[in-house]
Amino acid sequence: MAEPQTQPSLTVLVPMYNEEAVLELFYEELNRVIETIPGIDFTYLFVDDGSRDASLSIVKNFATNDPRVTYLALSRNFGKERALLAGFDHVTTDAVVVIDADLQDPPALIAEMVDYWQQGYQDVYAQRRSRKGETWLKRATSNAYYRVLQSVTRVEIQANTGDFRLLDRACLDALTRFRETERNTKALFSWIGFRKQAILFDREPRAAGRSKFNYRRLTNLAVDGITSFTTTPLRVSGFFGFIVSLVAFVYLLVIVLQALLFGSDAAGYPSLMAVILFLGGVQLMSLGVIGEYVGRIFNETKDRPNYLIGESNLPGGVDHDGGP
Ligand code: UDP
Ligand code: MG
Repeated sequence: MAEPQTQPSLTVLVPMYNEEAVLELFYEELNRVIETIPGIDFTYLFVDDGSRDASLSIVKNFATNDPRVTYLALSRNFGKERALLAGFDHVTTDAVVVIDADLQDPPALIAEMVDYWQQGYQDVYAQRRSRKGETWLKRATSNAYYRVLQSVTRVEIQANTGDFRLLDRACLDALTRFRETERNTKALFSWIGFRKQAILFDREPRAAGRSKFNYRRLTNLAVDGITSFTTTPLRVSGFFGFIVSLVAFVYLLVIVLQALLFGSDAAGYPSLMAVILFLGGVQLMSLGVIGEYVGRIFNETKDRPNYLIGESNLPGGVDHDGGP
């Protein structure tokens, strides 16, 4: 006799924020793909990250006709990183696929991910071969960022990789142990390790709606990525301070000797000004770097919940705690 309980189970986790324009299309496309993958119990978990449009009611609509659809609505917009954590906390299946709602991550890849998962890979991530519909500047800054991040850490960073991936239970259990508030999930994926496998794909432009990540948000994400990953900037500013003091000391010797041997004509206002301004700049920069870390300590010590849940149709009701 067939025992459906023994089938491996998988949750498709969809963070969404004001995605009413694409949700229907996304859901159709996802269903089409899921039907072609036999032998797996699928659940959908939509995490509504405080959308101010009709996204949540559209998902509730899905849920009334489709028992596989579950949702979790955060009490406000917490950002994608925390929306993902909320999702991870509430996934009960053997694995999860994280996918954007805007069809930039083609659902068709899920079949391939599941294949690799069944071969024993624990983190099957989609790697972009090309990035259509993104400006030259966005590509260049993103490339430079990966290079900087990789150069300051021993952990291997997967370049050109987003959050679109399949994670095994082992990875999920690891990720939910990271409760830091300024999260950079991408860095965490690299940090946890496990058996990783890449799938190459061409990233399409958004099907509809607008990107929520402008340069300000991307810059914040990048700074979080580096400061949550490594204390190298602190060491660099210390090193820089050391070099500057060394040069200043040599220069000091030179002028003292000069004054002793040849007498002083008390000139040098421009060089004095240059040195003062330069040192002032270096000091402010180093203070800024230290401040960045002190700020993080401050935020972590507050020990606030990462997110709050407004409503949900998950079994067991709403746990407003924001914890696992
Ligand atoms: N998203 C979210 N909370 C936010 C911003 C975005 O849950 O505060 C979701 C969004 O709905 C989408 C995914 O994260 O499903 C990726 O966002 P977006 O497409 O705007 O980013 P991009 O693809 O431009 O990097
Ligand atoms: Mg997108």
